Amino acid sequence: MKKLEGKVIVITGAAMGLGLSTAVECAKEGAKLVLVDYNDQALGEAKSQLSAEFPDAGIMIITADVSDESQVKAYVDQTFSAFGRIDGFYNNAGIEGKQAKLADYDMESFKKVVDINLMGVYYGMRYVIPIMQSQKSGRIVNATSVGGIRGVLNEGPYVASKHAVSGLTKTAALEYAQDGILVNAIAPGAILTPMVEEAFKQMNPQDPKQAEEAFSQQNPSKRLGLPVEVAKLVVFLMSDDCAYVNGQIIAIDGGQSNAY
Ligand code: NAD
Repeated sequence: MKKLEGKVIVITGAAMGLGLSTAVECAKEGAKLVLVDYNDQALGEAKSQLSAEFPDAGIMIITADVSDESQVKAYVDQTFSAFGRIDGFYNNAGIEGKQAKLADYDMESFKKVVDINLMGVYYGMRYVIPIMQSQKSGRIVNATSVGGIRGVLNEGPYVASKHAVSGLTKTAALEYAQDGILVNAIAPGAILTPMVEEAFKQMNPQDPKQAEEAFSQQNPSKRLGLPVEVAKLVVFLMSDDCAYVNGQIIAIDGGQSNAY
């Protein structure tokens, strides 16, 4: 028996990185997938890739910007019209933003990070939760970060938004456990995705590989994480194997968040 057989799973930020990798692992486990992203072209490519590999996954794609409440409502409504339920929601879309110290951060960029990383996650929960309440079941996995547990130099708005997502996760878990909904968050360290490659370019524009190597050496495991390693954790949190984990911020970082 596959772990997510027949479950309807919505993934935001699904066109690349952790969202796409998780879509692949969910499809392997028999899920029906709704993939949401604002990058229309990459989303189409993701659908072609997945449909070729998993013709039974019934993949639906929806172009939407998670920072726009009306677009979030629309992707949830469209999913419900098509499938009549939502079993799992990976509230994953997010951006890192520019790297700068707090007092140097420009307000527009600051607000953009908060609008996507915090408000996008909140809007998603706001519209998905009533559907899960009516089913008396559901799993929500929010994307926080090691930056949602600790401070990170030059990433003030990112860290603030991810701490806020950790807070929303804990509160939602308390409020909806009696409705059969489990709400957890994953807190990855540095996982090799397009977002992290971009971060290394910002750290060392002349030699991003050097920044990557320095980052790896600081990690107790002496390497970066792989998207598939995160995807398998999300699959577990979406599956019936996970029945009593609720309101947790689960670090997946090779042990790095324990170091000082
Ligand atoms: P990524 O940049 O590789 O992919 C993110 C995807 O989200 C892209 O397809 C992008 O188009 C989409 N997206 C961004 N803003 C959007 C919006 N407003 N509406 C709809 N789609 C949007 O990033 P990733 O590394 O896969 O990260 C995914 C999530 O995991 C993010 O929330 C990120 O903060 C978090 N995270 C990642 C890492 C890491 O090391 N990669 C570490 C900690 C947390």
